[in-house]
Formats: sequence, structure tokens, C-alpha cells
Amino acid sequence: MARTDVLVLGAGIVGTSVALHLAKRGLSVALLDRAGVGEQTSFGNAGIVEGNTIFPPAFPADPGALMRIALKRAGEANYHLSFLPQALPWLIAFRTASRPARLIENARLIRPLFARAVAEHEALMAEAGAAQFLRKTGWLKVYRSARSFKALNAEFDLAAEFGLPLQALDVAGAQTLEPSLRPVFAHAAFWPQAASVSNPYGVTRAYAARFAALGGVTLHGDARSLHRAGAGWRVETNEGGVDAREAVVALGPWAHDLLDPLGLRLPLMVKRGYHRHFHAQGNAGLARPVLDADAGYVITPMQQGLRMTTGVEIAARDAAPTPVQFARLMPKARELFPLGERSDDQTWLGSRPCFPDSRPVIGRAPGLNGLRPQTAARLPRRRRARWRAPSHWRRACRARRDRNADRPAAWRRSRRQR
Ligand SMILES: Cc1cc2nc3c(=O)[nH]c(=O)nc-3n(C[C@H](O)[C@H](O)[C@H](O)COP(=O)(O)OP(=O)(O)OC[C@H]3O[C@@H](n4cnc5c(N)ncnc54)[C@H](O)[C@@H]3O)c2cc1C
Repeated sequence: MARTDVLVLGAGIVGTSVALHLAKRGLSVALLDRAGVGEQTSFGNAGIVEGNTIFPPAFPADPGALMRIALKRAGEANYHLSFLPQALPWLIAFRTASRPARLIENARLIRPLFARAVAEHEALMAEAGAAQFLRKTGWLKVYRSARSFKALNAEFDLAAEFGLPLQALDVAGAQTLEPSLRPVFAHAAFWPQAASVSNPYGVTRAYAARFAALGGVTLHGDARSLHRAGAGWRVETNEGGVDAREAVVALGPWAHDLLDPLGLRLPLMVKRGYHRHFHAQGNAGLARPVLDADAGYVITPMQQGLRMTTGVEIAARDAAPTPVQFARLMPKARELFPLGERSDDQTWLGSRPCFPDSRPVIGRAPGLNGLRPQTAARLPRRRRARWRAPSHWRRACRARRDRNADRPAAWRRSRRQR
């Protein structure tokens, strides 16, 4: 039976970054995935390193926007009607977490984590020989209506409080940065210190290669085979069972599959999203990601072409793809930027792992010694910073403690010893 210090389950950007950091600290680490490194959600995102994010995506406050979504006319969101009853409790919690006061509270709590994202990735990329993927050219967001731009006021205030540079631009100012944009918008906001990558898959692969160079082992296997073995954990892999004292759960949108049977029910849902790649017409190009805020898509220059990523689709994680948002978005996108033909022939589908308040779950699993979930959405590299556990996580701990309070003392002692 092979033995390591730590098992990291899931080789997306989260698991691979965690594994690399643990290996750098001299621990023996096995990184496990049932697919190839970085091939799932971390493959196809918009490549933005979210260091400048203040408010994570919020529930739409504008009744008009909600109505457009309900009528399936919105580019920014789609849904599967049959999935709504299941999604409803999560959507209500999401709406609650999107109240202005909660958003501001959250922004302050998450800031220490976001604040380190670019510098931490830059350091890892330099070490992993992946610096060529990093682009420190900022992020441009364009707004078609004065109303949506005005909604940014709270972000401007917090950006000033956090010392984050944020520039309000008119059309000419935005076109100075991105001359290929057509003036179909009225305002723009430029986040100069934001960074992006030209190939998220390439970054994860480079981190995995650096992990291997430090002696880390990457194995194939199903994380759901994880079970208790003595004082630690065992997982079955293509090279046999591997034991470790600690296991890190970094399964992204699949975290449920492992945690639910262990009795850890987290309010994790997925917001699905798609991408397609395009050529540009003529000499048109982009130097940075551009968000068309009112339409709800991002175009990022990638090594594979101009990657257009859609907003949210509320649907079961494993339901068949329904990329209907492209039909709604393409006229808007072609209006803003001279997109040419597609440069790929497949539409990619990914599932953003999301908690209602977008705070990550990091740390020891209550009552499951040595198990550490690392699950988050749209967040920078996860760190065990001085971090207050999110409210739903604290509630889960309290509920477990309360349940255990009714059990016999001998049972509680034996749980502690396990
Ligand atoms: C369209 C879109 C655009 C996005 N844009 C951005 C962006 O610009 N910036 C940003 O920060 N975030 C963005 N995100 C979110 C970001 O991509 C995810 O938050 C991130 O990739 C999650 O990484 P992860 O490692 O947690 O998950 P994953 O990359 O999905 O990794 C989880 C791994 O677990 C493995 N796994 C699952 N089940 C098992 C099992 N039973 N056994 C073994 N292995 C298993 C999978 O194979 C996978 O490799 C976007 C997401 C989408 C969908």
C-alpha cells in the first residue's frame, strides 16, 4: 500500500495549485483525477485572474432584466424549467446574499483573498515556466446604458477604499485601449491592475509539471473511492490503493459526489457556462478581456482564438448542453466587435462551482478528521488565510455539533478518536 502525506482529490486549477504548494513545503503529495489535469472547468474559463473583483456576480436587481431572463430572451442567463424547483432554495439564498449591504460586507471579507490573486499566480507562473501566459493588461467592461453604469457607484466607492485603481472612460477613452471596439456602448470601466491568462489549461498543466518536478505524483482514479483507513484516508487509484493522513477535496462542481455520502451537505450549486472561439475580421484584435456588461458575455483573446464565454445557465450539472445563449448574444457581440468565423467546431460547456455568497469553503471538515474541502467559485488561488468560515459552513458545524450533543458520550469519544 502506497502512503503519502496528503491526497489532493481533483486536478483542476484549485487542486493542482494546492498540490504544488504542499510539495513546495516538502510534503509528499498524490494528486488524483479521473480525467487529465486541468481538463474540466479550469480548461475553458474566461481566463481572468480575479484579483480586482469587488462584487462577485449578483442576483439581478432590475425587474426588467429578471423578466427578460424569465422569458428566455436574456443573453446573460438561461435556465432549464425542470431544474428550477431543485434550484429554488439556492436561488433564494443567492438573492439574499445579493442585497446591497450583504454584497458590501462580502466584498470586505473576500478582499484579502482576492488581493493576493495576481501576485500569487505571477509567482507560481514564474516558477512553473508559465509566465508567457500571463497578461497584465487589465480588464475593460463596457456599459450600453447609463443606468447599468450608474449601478457601479458602490464599486467605485469600495475600489477607492481598497486602493484599487478603477477608471471611468467614455467611448473614445475605451477605444484608445481597444481600437477595434465599435461605439455601441455609452460608458466603460477600466481595471488596470486586473490580469488574465491566454490559456488557462496551459497554466494548470505547467503547475502540474512543476509539481511533478518537485516529486509530486499524479494518479488516475475515482475520488469517490475515498474511505477511512486507520487514522487517515485511502483512495483507490490505477496504481492501487494510496493512504494519507490528510485528504484535500478540490473536486470543483463534483465536490457533492464525495461530500454528500460523507454527510457534508454544502449549499454548492453550479452555474453552467459555454465558450466558443472566433477569428477576428481583418486586423481587428483585443489586448485584454472585454465584458459587455448589459449583454452578459466576455470576449478574451486566447491562444486558440477570441474566446467568447456566456453568462449563467441554471441547469443540472450533468444535463445535456443547451447553448441557446449564443443565438441571443451573437448579434450583440458582432455589433461591438468585428468577430469573424468560428475557429473551433465544438461548443465547450463548463460548470462554475458556486456558493450563494461566493465565499469559498476552506479548512478542516467538521467531524471528519483530516478531510479538507477546497471548493470555491470565481476565486483566486485558495489559501488558508486568516479567514472566517462562511456562514453556511459555520451553520453546518453547529448542526453537526448539535446532532452529536444528543448522542451518547461514548459515541462522541469514539468519533473524536477516529
Ligand atoms: C464559462 C466560464 C467562465 C469562467 N470564467 C472565469 C474567469 O474568468 N475567472 C475565474 O477565476 N473563474 C472563471 N470561471 C470559474 C472557474 O473556471 C472555476 O471556478 C475553476 O476552474 C474551478 O476550478 P476547480 O479546480 O475547483 O474545478 P475543476 O477545474 O472542474 O477541477 C475539478 C477536477 O475534479 C475532477 N473530478 C471530478 N470528479 C472526480 C472524481 N469522482 N474522481 C476524480 N476526479 C474527479 C475533474 O475531472 C476535474 O479535473 C469560469 C467558469 C465558466 C464555466
